[in-house]
Amino acid sequence: MKFGGSSVKDEAAIGRVMAIVRKHLDEKPVVIVSALAAVTRQLLALAEAARSGDSETAEKILNYLEIRHIDLAAQLSSGSLLQDVRENIIRVMSGLYSDVSACICGSWTSTPEAFQAAIISHGELLSSMVINAAMNCAGIPCKLLDARKMVITDDNFLSAAVDMDKTCANISEAVGQAFDEAQVVLSQGFIATSRSGKPTVLGFEGSDYTAAIFGLATGADAVDIWTDVDGVRSADPRIVEGTVCVPSLSYEEASDMALLGARVLHPLTIRPARMKDIPINVRNTSNPDGEFSTVCDRHLVPGPKVVALLKGKDVSEMGVGEFEDLHCRPGETVVSIIGIGCGSDARVADAVRAAGYKAMVRPDSVSAIVPDDAAVSVARAFHKAICK
Ligand code: ADP
Ligand code: ASP
Ligand code: MG
Repeated sequence: MKFGGSSVKDEAAIGRVMAIVRKHLDEKPVVIVSALAAVTRQLLALAEAARSGDSETAEKILNYLEIRHIDLAAQLSSGSLLQDVRENIIRVMSGLYSDVSACICGSWTSTPEAFQAAIISHGELLSSMVINAAMNCAGIPCKLLDARKMVITDDNFLSAAVDMDKTCANISEAVGQAFDEAQVVLSQGFIATSRSGKPTVLGFEGSDYTAAIFGLATGADAVDIWTDVDGVRSADPRIVEGTVCVPSLSYEEASDMALLGARVLHPLTIRPARMKDIPINVRNTSNPDGEFSTVCDRHLVPGPKVVALLKGKDVSEMGVGEFEDLHCRPGETVVSIIGIGCGSDARVADAVRAAGYKAMVRPDSVSAIVPDDAAVSVARAFHKAICK
């Protein structure tokens, strides 16, 4: 079960997480958490402040982060558990303070990427400590494992490639042992260690990927991605009104959707799950009994399902895997419709023709290259066409 930043943002949100975990105790849940909402962004700002020698901003962010985590721990735990977690937060924060000071003084010797990865790793370390104390205090016997000791990567610091064999062996052993002591095993998404022992991360939004790797390593029945929407929607509900839940998607559709910009799932998440045919459920932490989506290849449903947007700048910075036909520049957005058989669907063809932009038609997705300022209206028009 993976809980993203918005699902662990404050006391009430973590309360909802614990209620969900409690309901699944007899299924031996392994829980993966992200940093508290917005913390990764603040840590990025901290790394930037440190690199530009702006010690005033760095200090403000450090103080804010320490207070936010200590206050949250105090709301969710008490007694010796609170004492321990407070000490641990202070210890992790002083490590962060030392890294920042080393950078400001010019004594940090490795690359900017290595520095950024080292700094942003702290978000998940801090959130997992607070949640571990909260669970144990609420009577849910929970064991916290350090993902950095299990998830081993290359030294591509900000988007590190996982050594799957080593990582799965480490996870399987550590999780197996942890269940001798506890009913819930908790660990951090996103963070890892390079073979040479340096902090790395799995790419932004990478906690979903960590959860799928844990699913693969432990032979899980399912990987549940708990987030802030009722499943995968027919488009990003922040951009398009009237979206509907897509109850079932194939692995390929989910991967295409993620690569083409629907950021509800990190693109790499699909791979480990697919290797062992593990279904991925996308569910809403604030509405646990509501509609949800299942990604697997057990019930393939043809037809257009999701509209996704991807900025040209992201295409050029990240590349999008198999979509080598996408040549999109900064100032342009790729607006895509994804779903099995999309490329030969009459509604899709009409909508793309009506939009009037250059389009790439593939068997299971269609992408139009649109100027940024027209992207939202094209996405809404595409969505209207597929939801008719
Ligand atoms: P988390 O913090 O749980 O990882 P994210 O913000 O990464 O959550 O992902 C959830 C967000 O993904 C939603 O709030 C929504 O705005 C966005 N999103 C984009 N496309 C879709 C889609 N097709 N269906 C659902 N959510 C989408
Ligand atoms: N905290 C990391 C990020 O914001 C990883 C994640 O949330 O999935 O990118
Ligand atoms: Mg996410």
